[in-house]
Amino acid sequence: MNLLMVGAGFSNLALAASLKKQELKITVIERRGQIGGNCFDYFDENSIDIHAYGTHIFHTDNANVWRFLSQFTQWYPYQHEVKALVDGQLVPVPFNFNSIEQLFPKQMAERMIQALLSEFEFNRKVPILKLRESKNPDLQFLAEYVYEKIFLHYTEKQWDVRPEDLDPLVTGRVPVFVGRDNRYFQAKYQGIPLEGYTRMFDKMVDHPNIEVRLNTEFDKSMLDEYDHCFFSGAIDEFFDYKFGQLPYRSLRFDFLTFNRPYFQSNSVVNYPNNYDFTRIGEYKYFLDTKSDNAVVSYEYPEAFVLGKNERYYPIINEENKRLYERYLEEAKSNKKVTFLGRLGDYKYYDMDQAVARSLELAKTFA
Ligand code: UDP
Repeated sequence: MNLLMVGAGFSNLALAASLKKQELKITVIERRGQIGGNCFDYFDENSIDIHAYGTHIFHTDNANVWRFLSQFTQWYPYQHEVKALVDGQLVPVPFNFNSIEQLFPKQMAERMIQALLSEFEFNRKVPILKLRESKNPDLQFLAEYVYEKIFLHYTEKQWDVRPEDLDPLVTGRVPVFVGRDNRYFQAKYQGIPLEGYTRMFDKMVDHPNIEVRLNTEFDKSMLDEYDHCFFSGAIDEFFDYKFGQLPYRSLRFDFLTFNRPYFQSNSVVNYPNNYDFTRIGEYKYFLDTKSDNAVVSYEYPEAFVLGKNERYYPIINEENKRLYERYLEEAKSNKKVTFLGRLGDYKYYDMDQAVARSLELAKTFA
């Protein structure tokens, strides 16, 4: 059987890697000059692992996904922490007891912490929109504060819409944490591939049954040559935008090198209220690389414009989901093509979710 995979991002690479032992011939085509999609990384002249499309931190609770990827890489046991500049101070995000104590007078902080502990479970996340519903005046104040200082302006910069106009799945990504754990993720498995993402991807497709063709555009006439196609490009593009374009957000990165050992206190610092960028990522932290230079990226959200920049995030809301459903209906009539990935499924997948989807697909295809 001959399979065509369009797009050499995490989704198709994981799928290829999980199907490769079978009697299948897999051709992966990729329009860019490298594999890995937006997870592509490289080591620069300082031996620092640069994530070319912004910081990527692998985290999952899915043991299958972790074991699957661990065939292709060892992991640096990195645990992600994010700080945000709020009222002139760098505080842990998600907002937790430490952030509260840093920003509020002692007695007030104490009351808030007690109230959080009495209303919510310890060491758990509470979505900010849920905290807003609390009857306790201190927690209402806290909710408004976090909403305003962490959430509202970051979200406006990032998405160019008000939080209410986004799916709660997106807004639910920034909770308040009931405890002192400063980590951004509490997932059981977290890490950065020890030799980088791209090296891991190379190993995933290193097999005589898999051929990767870079700088290769997809053309519908290719479908005739294959028994099945896995398409991880944009589903609206596949159908020539017949129902209109699915909206996306894009990003622009300014990479800067400073001749000093460290630029900031940790790998990612968010700037919800200041500047036009949302965050600065400093790359040496991910693999704890020692260097006299610090390499950082300033991250500027921008509109996705076809032909001008790349798609990064589907903008998930009711209207866009309806538009996607129309494409999905259309897709169902073509049994020869399976859509997957952030762009094929129009879903805000984290890396592990993309891999989990591919492992499921591999099972049904086997
Ligand atoms: N967010 C926010 N303030 C922050 C961090 C995140 O309001 O300090 C919101 C924002 O809407 C963002 C979403 O939460 O798009 C998801 O953030 P996350 O860091 O998970 O996004 P990613 O790393 O996928 O861009």
